Amino acid sequence: MGRKKLPQVDADTPERKEERQHPAIEDLFPDRDEEWLGRVRGHLVDWYRGAARSLPWRGDRDPYRILVSEMMLVQTTVAAVVPYFARFLGRFPTVADLASADEGDVLKAWEGLGYYRRARQLQAAARSIVADHGGVFPDDPDAIRALPGVGRYIAGAVLSFAFDRPAPIVEANTRRVLARWLAWGEDLKLPRSQTRLWEAAGRLVPEVGAGTFNQAFMELGALICVPRAPLCLVCPVAGECQARALGIQDRIPVAGPKVPPMEVIEACAVIARADKLLIVKRGPGRLWEHFWEFPTIHVAGPDPAGRSLGGPVDLAEGVRRLTGLGAAIGPPATTLRFGVTTHRVTLAAHPATWIEGEPSPGPGLVAAAWEPVGAIGRHPLGSATRKLLARLAGGG
Ligand code: SF4
Repeated sequence: MGRKKLPQVDADTPERKEERQHPAIEDLFPDRDEEWLGRVRGHLVDWYRGAARSLPWRGDRDPYRILVSEMMLVQTTVAAVVPYFARFLGRFPTVADLASADEGDVLKAWEGLGYYRRARQLQAAARSIVADHGGVFPDDPDAIRALPGVGRYIAGAVLSFAFDRPAPIVEANTRRVLARWLAWGEDLKLPRSQTRLWEAAGRLVPEVGAGTFNQAFMELGALICVPRAPLCLVCPVAGECQARALGIQDRIPVAGPKVPPMEVIEACAVIARADKLLIVKRGPGRLWEHFWEFPTIHVAGPDPAGRSLGGPVDLAEGVRRLTGLGAAIGPPATTLRFGVTTHRVTLAAHPATWIEGEPSPGPGLVAAAWEPVGAIGRHPLGSATRKLLARLAGGG
């Protein structure tokens, strides 16, 4: 079988040139050729046309809406994103609306989705499009890759979905499908695995119809080539899959060594004064930046949220340093357990009563205020604070 080269496009920068220079089909898929490639693409896209889920962002060619959906979908399920997508675009329908919005409003619209850095990056990207591109979403790969928060995967999604450019996509679903097609027996986090998967994705994406192909590829991973027990019997490309041919599809992708989470202990004070509670706003450059919460101290373990006050302090002393208030701290009323990056946080919430002083924000904070319980939810809140509020209200 002869090695034919696909036509090269967009080869005007070193990076784009490198992205279009993929190994020959035979080097990735033994005994396969360009004809096979056309057949696989056809099977996949035909299946997709009949099986695709109806999703609010599906078929959308607006790059801004595609960017919003892809930023929301990073590390988050489709089911979780669907209601947020419509609400967010209702609130910020255009790049210009998002660029000019108050950051607190953007965080509030994102509240509950997690990974709030993405919300900030999305707004920074909108501001860059307004400032650097006159408010018009660029269609140049380098300009898209230069937007805050836009890596190779999201750039590929925008380029192929919005502009039908032949840009590959490797994300959670396509990574798994590719690993099985290639019968790739190495940890996918290894750099050489990443390189190989991007090479294969780049070789598979067609010059025309790239957006539909990429969506079909992702949908196959979401619906058929699922993480556990892939549905090979109904897979439209089962005949082309090397893992299936070898009967090893259940063992791919290979799992890397599991690192146990690091334990973190924190404590917070829910300080009451008459019918109000004290909340504080986190300052810039820290986890939960610009979110509101109850005054919280780091007690033990690593300190991923940057709450340390320079040494061990009890909660009463911590509250004094963080807010300037004297408070009588009670025993913990409830405890939350939640994950933060590679950490497992145990947060004990202590009811407390105001004794003296007026609130003023201490280290790492930019505001402190008394709020009626019913008004606290108007502020951007992290999931732990929302859960505590629900428990205080008897709902969680
Ligand atoms: Fe995935 Fe099975 Fe299809 Fe291979 S045959 S791509 S393992 S569903």
